Amino acid sequence: MKSKQIKLKHLIMGVVLAAFFLTSIGSIWSGYRMNVDSIKENTLETNRVYAQKLATTASSYLEEAFQILGYSANQIESKMNDENALKYETERLKMQNNMFNSVLITNAEGLVLSVSPPSVEVKGEVLTSVGAREALAKREPLVSKPYEGITGRLLIFISYPIFSEKDEYLGMVAGTIYLKERNVFNALLGEHFYHDGSYVYVVDSDGRVIYHQDPSRVNDVAMDNKVVQAVVSGKSGAQLVVNTRGVEMLAGYSTVPLADWGVVAQRPLEVALDPSFDRVQDVVIKSIPLMLISIFIVLWAAARIANPLQQLATLTEESMEKKNVEGLKSVRGWYFEVHYLKSALIRSLTFLQGQVSYFKDQSTTDPLTGVTNRRTMDAMLAEWLENKVPHALILLDLDHFKNVNDTYGHAVGDRVLQFLAQNMKAVARDGDVCCRYGGEEFVLLLPNTTAEEAAQVAEQLRDILAHTESPCGRSVTLSAGVAVYPQMADTAEKLIEAADGALYLAKQAGRNQVMVAEQENKIKNLLK
Ligand code: GH3
Ligand code: MG
Ligand code: MG
Repeated sequence: MKSKQIKLKHLIMGVVLAAFFLTSIGSIWSGYRMNVDSIKENTLETNRVYAQKLATTASSYLEEAFQILGYSANQIESKMNDENALKYETERLKMQNNMFNSVLITNAEGLVLSVSPPSVEVKGEVLTSVGAREALAKREPLVSKPYEGITGRLLIFISYPIFSEKDEYLGMVAGTIYLKERNVFNALLGEHFYHDGSYVYVVDSDGRVIYHQDPSRVNDVAMDNKVVQAVVSGKSGAQLVVNTRGVEMLAGYSTVPLADWGVVAQRPLEVALDPSFDRVQDVVIKSIPLMLISIFIVLWAAARIANPLQQLATLTEESMEKKNVEGLKSVRGWYFEVHYLKSALIRSLTFLQGQVSYFKDQSTTDPLTGVTNRRTMDAMLAEWLENKVPHALILLDLDHFKNVNDTYGHAVGDRVLQFLAQNMKAVARDGDVCCRYGGEEFVLLLPNTTAEEAAQVAEQLRDILAHTESPCGRSVTLSAGVAVYPQMADTAEKLIEAADGALYLAKQAGRNQVMVAEQENKIKNLLK
């Protein structure tokens, strides 16, 4: 049966697959979210530890710088007037340690006594920069804020005071770091960056960048960055932050207390999460076989659920045609609804068919005698003739029936008619049809029967009646005429006419006898 309506099988499949996909997407999504959260956490923790490690490195560097400068200050306090000794000391500091971009020694007024490398032409000049002035004023080991030196370079100034044995302030020995050039930070921090956008930077206590992998960022003030604000206020930790370029960063940060610097190590969120997308892809690819198996199982289950219903539908149609419910009984009602529907269908179809056959019987039988009525007999005869079924027809009539009615009453007459019908049925063979032709006249239709055979059946009936007590208290007799198709007639009318002719002859000849049309004498002789 084709119809535009959606099939249950497809409906079940659709619903189950939708549920399946929604659940899959849900679990993949939540897995992805969990993965993202754990990646975020891990990256933050990694960067926090990393920033801490770099801060420790920077602290060690500063400590070492102070130690080295302090050692030199001690060495040269007695040689402040020995130009060669000072020259030697600056060169040694510059060459041996490679910690500074330049090294210089000044007197107490800030006049540069010696500098290395000599290309930095500040010898004989008085340092006026903020950093130098602060160091001269404070007379203690100091790390300056970034500033532009006499040479125009952006630098940090790390200085150590020189005191004589009598504790007179003699000047300072200082190393510089050129922030925008290759410097010690590159060596300390710069090696540790990835090529995927992860990087490290260092800010001073004002949030000014003193080290960055991108030199153009050096000297930028990054105070609007949350992480910079945190590290400048002395905190260490890690958090998600949007950097000055609007990129989300997973940043770890730590302070360098010796110089109030902050070190930040960060990795773009997107880069960190990249493996997560790969994992989702991986999960999806790996779940394809399971998905296919599930689809297969769903198809199978949907078919198993829907098939019995489909069968019930087709078999119901069929059983209407076949007029039996045997087909329906074969449907496996393996779940409640089908079982219920099946028994309901069988019950209602059986009932319906019973009703139908009852009404059919009602319309085809004679109510008094229960044999086939005249109308149905005519229809059957017509059908047999159309299909050229050879047959015999016996027309019978009770003898002197009027007398029965007159003597015993009409009701008894009726019972005699019923008695005759019963005996007709008794002699009728399988396939023979007993009919009430009208009044007290009856017909027996005998398919594939010769005139002789029909005559014998009629004779048998006649004989029974003649020797059996009927409901009126005595036996009644009948006369019969036999005709056969196609030998004696080619239409129903002619056939009945022929039988009627034979019946008339039987009555004429004295009743209680059987006559065959056109052969009446022969049969009569044959039987007597
Ligand atoms: P014969 O056939 O031997 O010539 O005589 P007959 O007395 O049988 O004559 P006829 O065929 O003329 O009479 C038929 C009678 O059958 C007439 C009628 O009262 C009676 N009859 C017809 N139908 C019924 C019926 O349904 N019930 C009863 N009780 N009698 C019926
Ligand atoms: Mg009659
Ligand atoms: Mg009669």
